[in-house]
Amino acid sequence: MADRNRHVIVLGAGPGGLACAHKLAEYGYKVTVIEKESFVGGLSRTVRHGDFRFDFGGHRWFTKNKHLHDWFLRLMEGQLVEVERISRILFNGKYFDYPISIKNVLQTAGLWTSFLCVVDYSLNTLSNALKKRPIHTMEDAFVSQFGRRLFDMFFRRYSEKVWGRPCSQMSSDWVSQRSKGLSIWTAITNALLKPKDKKAKTLIETFVYPRWGYQEIPETMARVVRAAGNEVILEAFAKKVDTSDPKKVVVTYEKDGRSHQVEGDYLVSTVPLTSLLMYAMEPKPPQAVIDAAKSLEFRSVITVNLMLDLPQMTKDTWIYCHDEGLGFARLHEPRNWSPDMAPKGKTSVVLEYFCSKDDAVWKMSEAAMVEWGKKDLCRLGFVKPEQILGGFTVRAANAYPVYGQGYLEKLKRMRDYIEAQERVAIVGRGGTFRYNNADHSVEMGLVTAQMINGEVTKAAVLDINTDLEYHEKDMVEASLGADAELVRPAAGGGTKI
Ligand SMILES: Cc1cc2nc3c(=O)[nH]c(=O)nc-3n(C[C@H](O)[C@H](O)[C@H](O)COP(=O)(O)OP(=O)(O)OC[C@H]3O[C@@H](n4cnc5c(N)ncnc54)[C@H](O)[C@@H]3O)c2cc1C
Repeated sequence: MADRNRHVIVLGAGPGGLACAHKLAEYGYKVTVIEKESFVGGLSRTVRHGDFRFDFGGHRWFTKNKHLHDWFLRLMEGQLVEVERISRILFNGKYFDYPISIKNVLQTAGLWTSFLCVVDYSLNTLSNALKKRPIHTMEDAFVSQFGRRLFDMFFRRYSEKVWGRPCSQMSSDWVSQRSKGLSIWTAITNALLKPKDKKAKTLIETFVYPRWGYQEIPETMARVVRAAGNEVILEAFAKKVDTSDPKKVVVTYEKDGRSHQVEGDYLVSTVPLTSLLMYAMEPKPPQAVIDAAKSLEFRSVITVNLMLDLPQMTKDTWIYCHDEGLGFARLHEPRNWSPDMAPKGKTSVVLEYFCSKDDAVWKMSEAAMVEWGKKDLCRLGFVKPEQILGGFTVRAANAYPVYGQGYLEKLKRMRDYIEAQERVAIVGRGGTFRYNNADHSVEMGLVTAQMINGEVTKAAVLDINTDLEYHEKDMVEASLGADAELVRPAAGGGTKI
């Protein structure tokens, strides 16, 4: 089986890179993880500020893959708390339950608006049945699924805050990845049949969460990787990936102001695919691949983290803020995820501001962002200015891969190039330019380790998070044999190094 003398280099210590390293270490490979930051976790980080802890946006672990979930429970044994999920949408000054429930829409929006939504939805469904309309954009997809009125109420403004452009300029792929299977009929059957009909239960009501914040997950994986005698090198920026010698991969990284080299038999990259292709690969990819990489973009996120002098602000896990007067798109209160996220008698809040790298918001100073956050929060009416003890910001430039119109064709060019590299694999959210949640990245990492160990093909990795089933659908058994340890069947075997 595995040969301890075989060495795999993993770029990036986020959930995807560490899951891959974790599985490889379990097989017995030698692994070196190279991470540019001073912490592990990537976007799934938790920042400590005194006795407060803040995730980079509320992170919920959820997977519909039972084998993956069992693996996760084994990994995090003794570290998890159960959280009740209570989320709301703020729209035109009113709070709607999320997931949307018919009863709550009736109560909150009123009979007339609800009636108009139902008429609009019915006419939309009828017209869809009579003539199939082409679905190209995010707007087409939402309207076809929910009708224009519900799209305007529950999807348009939030999506436009997140993506920074009209839904008509976004590809429909994101909607099919995230909301397929959600429909008004599901909501109606939920409302009418909920206790009896298990199939109609579409959105989970509780979830598990690491007691000290989401970063406990990558930290636990990193501990296991190190305990097996491997290195996770922090503050090490990977600059070059040289594949010119067909027998090895050579990575050059910067650490402590010096250049270092490490040689491996295989490379797994979770760094943004665009950067990998534009700056790091040696020999350089063809110009068409570089041009494709240049044309794809990520949305950035700045979180404003505020400490509050009150025991609890709301009961919510998340509030989605559609109102245009508010700069942030979503907030969460860490104490509602785990009481250990804030000191006794105090609470805190995380506000998510979306922007693009180098735009006016991205360039705002920390002090200005915190002031903006304070003003926005006070407008919601939960908190008075004197109850805000202070705040700080956390930023990530490459947070959300943008599925703009025509992105897929360019992405295919880039992925085909990587596919052809015998000793290189890509994993993760930025790494594959796919809108992954952490569980998808973990699954990709684990399956990539299986692929390196000769159990599955590269195609099995890129298959993950493409079945376009709504993520929060009732947890279903993965279509695996009972003895399949992990996630994907061994389709044709892979390239064991
Ligand atoms: C606001 C927000 C909320 C979210 N909420 C959820 C949620 O509720 N549930 C959920 O499951 N997921 C959620 N996610 C998504 C989750 O954070 C990501 O899916 C997950 O962290 C991706 O893991 P990854 O390993 O693929 O990538 P990343 O976490 O991005 O890790 C990549 C790593 O590579 C490193 N790196 C990059 N370039 C280099 C280089 N040149 N050299 C060395 N290292 C490098 C980075 O520093 C980083 O550590 C959320 C994300 C955001 C932004």
